[in-house]
Amino acid sequence: MLRRTKIIATLGPATDDPAVLDEMIQAGVDVVRVNFSHGGAEDHVRRAETVRNRARAHGRQIGVIADLQGPKIRIEGFRDGAVTLREGARFVLDASLGPRDGSEERVGITYKDLPGDVERGDTLLLDDGRIVLWVDEVVGHEIVCRVVVGGELSDSKGINRQGGGLSAKAITEKDRADIRVAAEMQADYLAVSFPRNAEDVQEARELFRAAGGEGGIIAKIERAEAMEAIEDIIRTADAVMIARGDLGVEIGDAELPGVQKRIIRLARSMDKIAITATQMMQSMVESQIPTRAEVFDVANAVLDGTDAVMLSAETATGRYPAKAVAAMDRICRGAERQADSVAVERRSPVRFQRVDEAIAKASIYTANHLGVKAIAALTESGATALWMSRVTSGIPIYAMTRHVATRRKVTLYRGVYPVSFDVTTTDHATVNREIVDELVRRGAVRDGDLVIITKGDLSGVAGGTNAMKIVRVGELIGPAT
Ligand code: PGA
Ligand code: MN
Repeated sequence: MLRRTKIIATLGPATDDPAVLDEMIQAGVDVVRVNFSHGGAEDHVRRAETVRNRARAHGRQIGVIADLQGPKIRIEGFRDGAVTLREGARFVLDASLGPRDGSEERVGITYKDLPGDVERGDTLLLDDGRIVLWVDEVVGHEIVCRVVVGGELSDSKGINRQGGGLSAKAITEKDRADIRVAAEMQADYLAVSFPRNAEDVQEARELFRAAGGEGGIIAKIERAEAMEAIEDIIRTADAVMIARGDLGVEIGDAELPGVQKRIIRLARSMDKIAITATQMMQSMVESQIPTRAEVFDVANAVLDGTDAVMLSAETATGRYPAKAVAAMDRICRGAERQADSVAVERRSPVRFQRVDEAIAKASIYTANHLGVKAIAALTESGATALWMSRVTSGIPIYAMTRHVATRRKVTLYRGVYPVSFDVTTTDHATVNREIVDELVRRGAVRDGDLVIITKGDLSGVAGGTNAMKIVRVGELIGPAT
């Protein structure tokens, strides 16, 4: 059986060895993420290029996500390496301190307006919540804190405010430069970090388009405010990422499971893609096998209906990048064998907006109820395959297209598999047969199986899908119309 849930792996120093990349590709990576929070532009361009070359060598399509750093607020550095903060001690976040001048008493901050955003009584969480500071008073450019939970603190750790509400603009100067790099590397997706609302997502899309980028936009949900605008954000983006690392710090870890389920459900009902991210297999940074809790986390995300599960440090800096991918692959497949993951769902009273959408949804319902083996969607933009994959199903959806950008885009869609197929150079009279032959060649179907084909009268025209055809493999398959 094909795995339906897609696996995203973050690239980093640990994946720079082409032999490691090859193992990851063999283990089933569908999409890679280059993380602009670490490393220079040349690293990202080189990594994206290497992955595409290796994917080609394996006869695979692998999507590329360019993930912007965004306005992650961080402390600056310390003069003599890490310091230890003791509970009850006074510690100052000082916007006027130099980037390497930190000590046990004070440290600089990357966002110079932070003192204007916080007030006495606020709780600040450093290093993903490991260190907790209580704001005693704000004096000019100094935030004077008491250490509530202490520990070791090293350079450049992140700062979040409990409850959110820091006003840093979502798209920084660095992001603007990085968006141009993302466009140059023809990223299939641009991930926007810390958007507060739909406008932030739209602004990123416009900048990406202006730079020549054609990929989709992923909104990372990682601020408390984003949850208040969640529907607008999902509507404006092509995909959402449940960025559990930062989000968990802002809204509290106890809220995360409920929020994950809600975002996935909303995204699917709005015909958008959902990605579940962060610490899914965290222990595999050091270990060759996941913990039982991690096994359940990945499986539960699959049962929630996520399109993709993501690996971060596990592959970027971990000791066993390929083993982490293999473990995810195994667990996704296990979860997909559960009846729940393909249970036929009733969608709320939906009204189709378009003819191609109606054909797509009708096809997947028909496939689910008729016992079809595969669906072949002739598609230009990938939209037909996207609509189909929003309905829970165990039936593979082959997105057959002549456009490489579309083949890469659908690598993220649950249950959708890219196939190179040029409808414009295929004889109209034999196109059905050629589609079925292609599926037979791939081992997707054999004699006697039913196949659904969707297409348009005018082949090669986006939005033109207006027909569903049901054919039986091995029987006489007639002309296209
Ligand atoms: P990051 O985002 O990996 O870029 O920090 C994901 C998260 O915050 O969970
Ligand atoms: Mn984050």
